[in-house]
Amino acid sequence: MPDFRLYNSLTRQVEPLVPSETDASGTPVLRFYSCGPTVYSYAHIGNFRTFLTADLVVRVAEAIGWKVRYVSNVTDVGHLTEDDVADAAGEDRMAKALASKEGERFANVWDLARHYTEALVADWRALNLREPDVRPRATEHVREQIRAVEALVANGHAYETADGVYFHVPSFPDYGKLSGNTEADRLDVGAAAASRAVVVDEEKRDPRDFALWKKDPGHLMQWHSPYGWGFPGWHLECSVMAQQYLGETIDLHGGGEDLRFPHHECEIAQAEALTGEPFARHWMHTRFLLVEDEKMSKRLGNFLTVRDLTAPPERGGRADWGAPVDPLALRLVLVSGNYRQPFNFTLKALKDAQKHRQRIAEAESVVREALEAGRDGPDRLGATLGAAYDDALAAMLDDLNTPVAFAAAYRGVGAILGQHHQQPLSADAARAADAFLDRVDAPLGIVRSDYEVPTSTAEADPLAEQVESLIAARVEARKAKDWARADAIRDEIEALGVEVMDGPVGTTWRRKID
Ligand SMILES: [Zn+2]
Repeated sequence: MPDFRLYNSLTRQVEPLVPSETDASGTPVLRFYSCGPTVYSYAHIGNFRTFLTADLVVRVAEAIGWKVRYVSNVTDVGHLTEDDVADAAGEDRMAKALASKEGERFANVWDLARHYTEALVADWRALNLREPDVRPRATEHVREQIRAVEALVANGHAYETADGVYFHVPSFPDYGKLSGNTEADRLDVGAAAASRAVVVDEEKRDPRDFALWKKDPGHLMQWHSPYGWGFPGWHLECSVMAQQYLGETIDLHGGGEDLRFPHHECEIAQAEALTGEPFARHWMHTRFLLVEDEKMSKRLGNFLTVRDLTAPPERGGRADWGAPVDPLALRLVLVSGNYRQPFNFTLKALKDAQKHRQRIAEAESVVREALEAGRDGPDRLGATLGAAYDDALAAMLDDLNTPVAFAAAYRGVGAILGQHHQQPLSADAARAADAFLDRVDAPLGIVRSDYEVPTSTAEADPLAEQVESLIAARVEARKAKDWARADAIRDEIEALGVEVMDGPVGTTWRRKID
């Protein structure tokens, strides 16, 4: 079995990912937890770059015959606006979203969470991500979180104040081993700089101590605990749910690079202080995404969600970005750069990805036609496609080297189309090509999808009808050897923004991507 090598943020080197157990049949089982989003709004394409990287890990592991036990959560309570820079400061993101203009259409905070969770799952499917085996929600695991708080208080790693319950960082000497952040500086400086509204709990014993439970009888989402009414700290849900579904020690834990500190550092402290066992043996972090060289922001108008790009304009799609875009093209562009490098999302990259997707779809239809036609003849593709697949998989096993893997996949697609342009594929060649498309789709997910691209209207596409009837007229003109008329019709079709292709199996067309 080949090595699956992946950069480990904990040891700071590329090393083999090792599933710690095998099932009854001897198949390795990878236990993988990937942090999901806070459902206070639509996840943006930067979030999805992280989720897609996790999806590639799952797919590659399955492609080499492993089983994956895959858990990715939904945060629906407890994530505060300042949580990334300061401990337990700011407003709850869910409550803030409900109070905003967009929040007006929701009956309450639970309704808002339900809406954005459903949207997340829909976008997840559109981009052809594998469903996790479990998608736990923080609000459905509060009892388990309270039990963890009680256990940490009992074993001396946590203490109660008038405001909440805190994890005492000096009680856990390994704090900082993931991020290298061992001092209080970043939290304190961040807190002071980020918000004047940050309230520091005077009873905290160390500035680094972080909240496991926030007492707040006025909060929109609250539960009763031995420490009074309140809600769990953001970091607690992930370590508790990961251990509940995957065991004390998991094989791989992932998320966006912004989660490495403080979120993941705090998860390690909570989990290892509870069990005395290592929490996760391998950590992966996906770097951030820029849009046309700028940080995404609502103010700049470059804040992009999946539906901004995949929905037709009359349903909110961004016409300036060419919406509706084939979701697999969006998937392709979001993972086209190495996950350990920042990625610059551009309109040009999106259009290039659409062209690649168009060629993949063309290869699929060529193969489908050839399978149906069942022509005799040699298979001149099998060896080339076998090598292209091997190269693609080898690149993915080498720390998810997607640029090299995609290049190998395109080489295979190019071979199929090149062969077809010389002469229609034989049935044997078509079978080899079909198998190649299936195999290369397994680790990459850019060929086959059940997802139906929403069309502009429920009615038939008027452009398609017009183009089809012009193509029929041109076929007639060519039959009658009226070349001038055939060329004139071709110009007319191309003026509609459509490209006409005459191939060995007839005339096809596609929308031009400029
Ligand atoms: Zn998390």
